[in-house]
Amino acid sequence: MAGGAYVVLALSFGLAGGIVGKIKGSSFFIWFIVATVVPVIGLLTAIVYRSERDEPHRLCPTCGRVCKLHDALCVRCGCELEFPDEPLVAESAASAAR
Ligand SMILES: [Zn+2]
Repeated sequence: MAGGAYVVLALSFGLAGGIVGKIKGSSFFIWFIVATVVPVIGLLTAIVYRSERDEPHRLCPTCGRVCKLHDALCVRCGCELEFPDEPLVAESAASAAR
């Protein structure tokens, strides 16, 4: 009976991990598997996990380098970055446009 209870618990964690992963723009299925196999750690990992493509980016107005939104200075040309008015671009989209 304990085994059955564990399976229910693991599946609950799996479901929660999958939903969290999906919200963060990752795969529901992958995080469902991770959180089912290692219930507590998997769910925590899904919560802490930050998808790189969810990270807000913008282009440096001077050299066009993709910088993180919260960077105050461009890491390439060192120019001061103001908070952007233009819509944000994902790093993948920005590098594809080049
Ligand atoms: Zn720059």
